[in-house]
Amino acid sequence: MIPFRQETPKRRDIKTKVTKYSDHKNDLKLDYKCRCGYCNDIDVWRTTWYEIDHFVPQKYLKTIEETDYSNLVYACRSCNNSKRAHWPTENEFIHHKNDVGFIDPCNDEYEKQFQRDNKGRILHKTLLGKWMYYKLKLHKPQHEIIWQIEELDTLIEECEKFLENFHNEALKERLLYLYREYRNYTKQLGST
Ligand SMILES: [Zn+2]
Repeated sequence: MIPFRQETPKRRDIKTKVTKYSDHKNDLKLDYKCRCGYCNDIDVWRTTWYEIDHFVPQKYLKTIEETDYSNLVYACRSCNNSKRAHWPTENEFIHHKNDVGFIDPCNDEYEKQFQRDNKGRILHKTLLGKWMYYKLKLHKPQHEIIWQIEELDTLIEECEKFLENFHNEALKERLLYLYREYRNYTKQLGST
């Protein structure tokens, strides 16, 4: 099995007052390293439109302000839409209870609830993980496809380095062509 993600995103302690929470989007993108907090998909592919999620939904905020940076999550449209205002405890300070509810993606405990199979498919490891898995629809195929594209990118980079000392010029040319075409198509996906 493969870990769900390689690192836990960390929010900076940003206290700057903003008029609307969307003013924090660039800071969130930076802190979440361009990944959705919930599914870890990187934000370069057109299948995911990135938004800002309130970890504790706005309707349950009593003392935390809706622009409070510590409650914001950089999230793909799929996770944001799936999570909606689900908040079983209905209390802004209790995130989960009896294996039902959410863990903040910036908490190391979040990734302990999930893992991946060798194709990158997300799997749940715990009962709380299972609850979040279905609420966030982490079974959607886009998550494993995006993970696999990143794996291919890494593999291609390794192959390109290897090819620098490769002496079969004809095959080298064909392989470089293949990589260029692959990047051309994935780039188009990202820009549409
Ligand atoms: Zn997501």
